[in-house]
Amino acid sequence: MSFVVAIDGPAGSGKGTITKLVGEKLGLINIDTGATFRSVTLAMLNEKIDINEEERIKKLLENIHIDLKQENGTQVVLLNGEDVTLKIRSNEVNSFVSPVSTLKIVRDNLLNLQRKMAEGKNVIMEGRDIGTTVFPNANVKIYLDATPEERARRRVKQNIEQGIDCSYEEVLASVKKRDKIDSEREIAPLKQADDAIYIDSSNMTIDEVVETICKIIKEKV
Ligand code: C5P
Repeated sequence: MSFVVAIDGPAGSGKGTITKLVGEKLGLINIDTGATFRSVTLAMLNEKIDINEEERIKKLLENIHIDLKQENGTQVVLLNGEDVTLKIRSNEVNSFVSPVSTLKIVRDNLLNLQRKMAEGKNVIMEGRDIGTTVFPNANVKIYLDATPEERARRRVKQNIEQGIDCSYEEVLASVKKRDKIDSEREIAPLKQADDAIYIDSSNMTIDEVVETICKIIKEKV
């Protein structure tokens, strides 16, 4: 038996930060499904595979190994044993990840992996389709949102902290573009599950969002 908290929402809605903090507070294992899509995207970029090369993508997926580990409170992403935690956040991956995530072959493969990662564990899993597709029977479902402008501001701040060069206009355009591709794709689009609780974090502090979600989860335990 496992207890699953699903946190879905658009790029930059704060899912990563919030999921990590709530997970630590309540002892839930944090699974960032975006990191799995980013890892496949990085592998495709490394091998110079385009999104219409289905055979090559199939081969790549057969030989790929993605692992998410928690080390000293931070998530480490391993792609075939290599630490790619920073590489999967590059601008190149940011631009290519949403088109890659529209592919059925990629989604089918990662759906299995994501379900396996949660097997028998108490998890808080963040993504776009966790409450609708990966775990439609999740114990708690949250849809975390914020305005595109606020999400872009947060991303710029995060990038500066990580030493990644960017402009607000560039980030805002990239956030909007990803939202559009993610919510309009045919398979498992970004969408609030009917039974998910909607939280608009635009005018909330991180602590307020964490407290709100912890309260919702505690009521369901
Ligand atoms: O959450 P993050 O911004 O790291 O996700 C990167 C991209 O991966 C998203 O823009 C989306 O295209 C894809 N993704 C997805 N389904 C998920 C998680 C992420 O399609 N469950």
